[in-house]
Amino acid sequence: MKKTVAIIGSGFSSLSAACYLAKEGFEVSVFEKNESLGGRASQLKIKGYTFDMGPSWYWMPDVFERFFNDFGYKASDFYEIEKLNPAYSVFFENDKIDIPDSLEDIYQTFEDVEEGSARALKLFIDDAKSNYDVAIKDVVYRPGISPLELVTPKTVKKLGQFFGNISKEVRQKVKDPKLVSILEFPVLFLGAKPKDTPAFYNFMNYADFGLGTWQPKGGMHAVVLGMVKLAKSLGVKFQVNSSVSRIHIENKQTKGITVNEEFLAFDKVLSGADYHHSETLLDQQYRQYSEKYWDKKTFAPSSLLFYVGFDKKLKNVSHHNLFFDTDFEKHAYEIYDNPKWPTEPLFYANFTSITDLKTAPEGCENAFFLVPIAPGIEDTEELRSQYFDKIITRFEEVTGQSVQNNINFKKSFCVKDFVSRYNSYKGNAYGMANTLLQTAFLRPGLRSKKVKNLFFTGQLTVPGPGVPPALISGKLVAGLMID
Ligand SMILES: Cc1cc2nc3c(=O)[nH]c(=O)nc-3n(C[C@H](O)[C@H](O)[C@H](O)COP(=O)(O)OP(=O)(O)OC[C@H]3O[C@@H](n4cnc5c(N)ncnc54)[C@H](O)[C@@H]3O)c2cc1C
Repeated sequence: MKKTVAIIGSGFSSLSAACYLAKEGFEVSVFEKNESLGGRASQLKIKGYTFDMGPSWYWMPDVFERFFNDFGYKASDFYEIEKLNPAYSVFFENDKIDIPDSLEDIYQTFEDVEEGSARALKLFIDDAKSNYDVAIKDVVYRPGISPLELVTPKTVKKLGQFFGNISKEVRQKVKDPKLVSILEFPVLFLGAKPKDTPAFYNFMNYADFGLGTWQPKGGMHAVVLGMVKLAKSLGVKFQVNSSVSRIHIENKQTKGITVNEEFLAFDKVLSGADYHHSETLLDQQYRQYSEKYWDKKTFAPSSLLFYVGFDKKLKNVSHHNLFFDTDFEKHAYEIYDNPKWPTEPLFYANFTSITDLKTAPEGCENAFFLVPIAPGIEDTEELRSQYFDKIITRFEEVTGQSVQNNINFKKSFCVKDFVSRYNSYKGNAYGMANTLLQTAFLRPGLRSKKVKNLFFTGQLTVPGPGVPPALISGKLVAGLMID
C-alpha cells in the first residue's frame, strides 16, 4: 500500500514538495482553498488583459533548472524564458537609470554615474558570486534542523559577513545615493531593511546583476502551469475550492484533515499554507508557536497592489520599473519601525505587455503597481484610492505622460485580500523576513516538534521568502518526509 499525503495549499512550495513526494512513490493529494492553483502566483484575466497577481521577477534561473532536472527535464520542456534588456529601469527624482543585461554593461553604467565605481562594483560582485555559490548551491539546500548546517569551511571564512549588514557594505563600495539604492534593492526581496540584512546576503546582488532578470512567456503563472503538469504526470491529484479547516491528531500523530466539512484520512499531512494559519488548524496543545512568538517576528511587508488596464501603449517605461524618487529610509521606517501608511512611498510597476504582447489587447498596456506597506495596518477603500491618486500622479510626472484618462479598468488588492485569499498572517505579502535571527534553524521548522507525520513548507519556514526559496523549501520538506 502506498503511503498517502495530504498537502494543504498549492503555492510553489507545495507544488515542489508534491512532485518530489510523488516521485518517491507517495500518493499525493493537494487541497487548495481558492479557485485556481499557484498560491500567490495566481493569474488574473480581465477584459483581454492578463496579470500575474503576485511574483513577477524571475530570478535565479538555475534554481528552477535544478528543480526540473531532478525529474529528468529542463525548465524549457514546460515554458520558455527570455532575458530582459534592460533588466529594469530605476526612476529617481530627475534621472532614470536602465540596468542592462550583462555585467560588463552594468559596470559601465555605474562608472558613468560615479567615477571609480565600476572597479568597486566588480569586487563586490565577485564576492557576491562566491556567496551565491556557497549559499544557493549548497547551504540553502540544508533543512534548518541544526546550527551546524551553517558551519562549512567556506562559511566559517565568511563569518564576519553574517554580522555586518548589507547597507554598510554597499556604502563602502559606492557613494552616489542612486547607486546605493540600486545595490540595496535586491535584498528587499528578503523582506527586511538592508540595515537588518546580513552582508552575506549580497548573493542577491549576484542574482540580480550576474544572473539577470528573465521573463517566462505567459508570465510567472506559466511556471505554475509547468509544475502542475509535471505533478500530474507523477500522479498528484489536485482539488481546488477545497479549504482545509482542521488537521486531525490522535496520540500525537496525524490522522487526516477536514476539507469542506468532510473528514479525509491520510498518513501524513504537509501544510504549505501560511505557517501561522496552518497551526490554527490544530488543537491548541499541538501548536508549536504562540501568538506572541509570531507577533515578535519581522515580517516581510504587505502590499497595496493595483492591476490596471490602459487603453494605450505607454512611453519611457520598461517591463520592470522601480520608482525610487522619494526617501527610501523614511518609507522603510514607516514599514518596520513605526508601522503606518507611508508618507511618500517608493513603488514598483511592471508592464508585461511591453515584452509579451499577448498580455494586453492590441494597442493597450497592462500595468501592475505595488506599494510596499507595513503588514497588519488599516485597509480601507478610501486609503487605497488616495494612494492610487498619489502614485499615478507621480508616475505621470516622472515618466512624462498622462495616463489617468486612459484607464480601462483598475482592481486593487491589499492587506484584507491577502488575509481572505491566502489566510496570510497580518496580510503579509511574502512571508517572514530573512534577518540574522530569522535564518535557517532559527526559523519555524519544516517538521512539527509536537506531532508525528506533520510537516510545514513555504515562505514562513526554511529557507525564506521568494519563488526560488519556495521551490527549495518543497524539496527540503519532501526529503524529511521521505526519510
Ligand atoms: C505581490 C507579490 C509580489 C512578489 N514578487 C515576487 C517576485 O517578483 N519574485 C519572487 O521570487 N517572489 C515574489 N514574491 C514572493 C513569492 O510569491 C512567494 O514567496 C511564494 O510564491 C510563496 O509560495 P508559498 O508556497 O510559500 O505560499 P503561497 O503562494 O502563499 O501558497 C499558499 C497556498 O495555501 C492556500 N491555503 C491557505 N490556507 C488554506 C487552507 N486552509 N486550505 C487550503 N488551502 C489553503 C492559499 O490559498 C495559497 O494558495 C511576491 C509575492 C507577492 C505577494
